[in-house]
Amino acid sequence: MKTTFLLLVVLITTTAKADEFISHFVNVGQADATILEFSKGIVMIDIGGENNAVRESQDSLENYMGKLFSRRSDLSKTIDFLILTHNHADHVSLIGWLSTNYKIKRIITTNYELWKRKDVSKAASDEGVTLELIDYKLMDKLMPNGFSVDISKLVDGEVIPKLVLYSGQIDTVKQEVNNVKFTESAFKETANNHSIVCKLTYGEASMLFTGDLELEGIKYLLAKYDKNPDIFEVDFYHVGHHGAENGTNKELLERLKPKVAIISAGNPKHINSGSANQHAHPRKKTVKRLNDFETIQKSNITKMVLVYAKFKAKPAPIEITKQIHCTCWSGSLSFTINSDGSYLQN
Ligand SMILES: [Zn+2]
Repeated sequence: MKTTFLLLVVLITTTAKADEFISHFVNVGQADATILEFSKGIVMIDIGGENNAVRESQDSLENYMGKLFSRRSDLSKTIDFLILTHNHADHVSLIGWLSTNYKIKRIITTNYELWKRKDVSKAASDEGVTLELIDYKLMDKLMPNGFSVDISKLVDGEVIPKLVLYSGQIDTVKQEVNNVKFTESAFKETANNHSIVCKLTYGEASMLFTGDLELEGIKYLLAKYDKNPDIFEVDFYHVGHHGAENGTNKELLERLKPKVAIISAGNPKHINSGSANQHAHPRKKTVKRLNDFETIQKSNITKMVLVYAKFKAKPAPIEITKQIHCTCWSGSLSFTINSDGSYLQN
């Protein structure tokens, strides 16, 4: 008698289920590229890469996205929403590569000095791409509680995620918000303070991105929404300005009350122009402040990590005991986050 065995193969994959999403902080060196993977679509926040001779950030992103989209072939290499916090190269520079290799549906960014980025205009001119520009004056008038991006179609579960953008721009003529004064120069000299701030809420889970807002920009943001102090409370805080000393302060952390902090910064061994080493990111004071901040959860393991005490200092190790992560220490990071607020580092 001949016996035939039927072999049943069960493929187990890490796919965002109905009521959860996966947040990918891709290692693109001293730059930002975050992918929010939902059950039916993708949001990207920034698409930068470190500009070094070997272009390894592009290889890293290409490799990461290649694996993600081969696992998620149902998403047909499509980015539903691409949000660019501001127009600096470390947040935008791989957009040409992205638009050549993936289909982008909507690009949302600030109109502050957008003329400097021909690559963004070119990507936006591709067939089927919608470009939306955030103008702070219109936003202040028409959307005092932020600009809601409808991402409800990216999920098939019962819980609907909400993505709200807040203006990172300032009226430099007025120089005052809710009686708090600002220096005009802080907003004229850098696009950082014009960064769009993004908050994702998915049931009980939440995540905040402040781009490269510096202290004046943070002051503006907190003053503008001081009548609604809970608006920025989050679980996950994508640490501002690559962990720079001027990207996070006590007042901001007190509003956020974060449980987990994630920094995007570059390899300390790189010494090229625009590297983490050149900027001294992440800064010791910031990492220490995060580690000392009471709402950030304890980690199961104590880690020694490299940080910079000041500009031009050599990176030196410090001990951290909390849920603080950096692409500069661990490479690409990803977390599966459930809408009930629970999460798992992958
Ligand atoms: Zn940056």
